[in-house]
Amino acid sequence: MYDYDLLVVGSANADLVIGVERRPGAGETVLGSDLAVHPGGKGANQAVAAARLGARTALLARVGEDGHGRLLLDSQAESGVDTAGVLVGGAPTGVALITVDPSGDNSIVVSPGANARLTPADVRAAEGLLHASRVVSAQLEIPLETVVEVVRNLPEDTRFVLNPSPPRALPPEVLAACDPLIVNEHEARVVAGGAGLGGTPEEWARALLALGPRSVVVTLGAAGAVVAEGTGAPVRVPSVKVEAVDTTGAGDAFTAALAWRLGAGESLARAAAYAARVGAAAVTRAGAQVSFPTAREVAAL
Ligand code: ADP
Repeated sequence: MYDYDLLVVGSANADLVIGVERRPGAGETVLGSDLAVHPGGKGANQAVAAARLGARTALLARVGEDGHGRLLLDSQAESGVDTAGVLVGGAPTGVALITVDPSGDNSIVVSPGANARLTPADVRAAEGLLHASRVVSAQLEIPLETVVEVVRNLPEDTRFVLNPSPPRALPPEVLAACDPLIVNEHEARVVAGGAGLGGTPEEWARALLALGPRSVVVTLGAAGAVVAEGTGAPVRVPSVKVEAVDTTGAGDAFTAALAWRLGAGESLARAAAYAARVGAAAVTRAGAQVSFPTAREVAAL
């Protein structure tokens, strides 16, 4: 009935990474390693993660008419993502300039570029994509008003999943549409804002649920996740024990997997358990998109 299991509405960035002995201070120049360029951005990451698992996936995003934009379109297409909804032009492709020192600490400057030009009008023009998708997922590396427009144009039977990253306070109409709202501890604190968060992750999940979303998932890194919906008690979803190499993109892989399994009709707890396996597999390899597992690799974990 649906053409797509998942439509991701979000960002696409080129990550430009240079290794340095020491990150430069004000006015300072340091020499670094050769430049590495990786496809990234939370939207692009989620779409690749879902497609690698086997979900029929489309991406609604905006890139520049430049080499970084082509890199992103190519990496999506290679993973099997339908890129017909990726708009081109209006500003340079979004870029993250990343310097990493030997201890792994980094400094990052993000130029949102074309991501900031993904507008509410672009969402309205993509009505066909929205109607063709079982689940729509979004993050906050695009303008909030664009996410609001997604919520307003959501077909009745389409499920909406939001990872509010980078976090900010959310309008009630966005919160009310989330099924689930997916947050790590930092995002939970910002979204809860004045409501505050005390005690255990189970209590955070209940406090967030009181803000209006239909369901909530709090991710806890190596400690797994907590899911909550309705009036039932929050449920702890265990993580899978793995040797963590690089946690970049784990949250994106988790969110994509969860959204896909929910669309397939699984319960929140069951979908989160699968997503935890996907997140664990993603941390066993370096990088973001290249670290995302196939369904076969998840089964073998
Ligand atoms: P984010 O990257 O958004 O901060 P988390 O770090 O909480 O998100 O990771 C998302 C999910 O990925 C976790 O809920 C967990 O299931 C899995 N995960 C992350 N880090 C690890 C780890 N070191 N070992 C096992 N699973 C992990």
